[in-house]
Amino acid sequence: MLIDSHAHLDDPRFDADRDEVLQRAWDAGIRKILTIGNGSGPDQMACGIPLAEAHEWIYTTVGVHPHDASKVEERHYRLIEKLSKNPRVIAVGEMGLDYFYDNAPRDVQCEVFRQQLRIAKKLELPVIVHTRDADGDTERILRQEAPRAGVIHCFTASGKLADFALEIGFFVAFSGIVTFPKAGLLAEIARRIPPDRILLETDCPYLAPVPHRGKRNEPLYVADTARSVAAFRGVSVDVLAEQTSANFDRLFVA
Ligand SMILES: [Zn+2]
Ligand SMILES: [Zn+2]
Repeated sequence: MLIDSHAHLDDPRFDADRDEVLQRAWDAGIRKILTIGNGSGPDQMACGIPLAEAHEWIYTTVGVHPHDASKVEERHYRLIEKLSKNPRVIAVGEMGLDYFYDNAPRDVQCEVFRQQLRIAKKLELPVIVHTRDADGDTERILRQEAPRAGVIHCFTASGKLADFALEIGFFVAFSGIVTFPKAGLLAEIARRIPPDRILLETDCPYLAPVPHRGKRNEPLYVADTARSVAAFRGVSVDVLAEQTSANFDRLFVA
């Protein structure tokens, strides 16, 4: 049994064949999917709820992606709180900082990140953190806000940030990027994350792992990432699947 701990199933690229995509994943032994409630902006953060209500094995989140931080108004924070009361919503996010794209001013990204961390803490929900080229501010804000639990998703940051994540009790999730031939440093980080702190994800429809690179990604392909990560760690895919499934349950479901 494998789990895709981070997918964007609401993406329009799944509109034509979403049911088939889910069926393929189920048939291949994917037993849980966490679909992220960001949509294309804070007004769409309920986007994963219909899917999670229709399928017992699909869970969802609500939150604002750093790309959309400029669109946030006070009412969106209240919307996060309101939607989080739905039992199918098991985390707040993804949220965080993206200084690679800089789609919103950095001070705005920091403020929206901070506010969401506070809401999650109040609601006692784990957080899903997106961070790109923003290690310093990510560490500073997480240290100050001290979330109760969470994951750095689609980890591509430094070994130092990985160490910090582990220090504060966070999980570290790897996507198809670890299967890319130039992922040397990342492979090294994936090798040394303790077995009780590692998660796997697709971040689909983005970032399809080798051998599907460049195509639309889908939850089924978490198996390809699992094969790579298991090889780096010198364990079988079954062992890694067992560890990552238990970790998912501990972070999000239990
Ligand atoms: Zn992300
Ligand atoms: Zn994502």
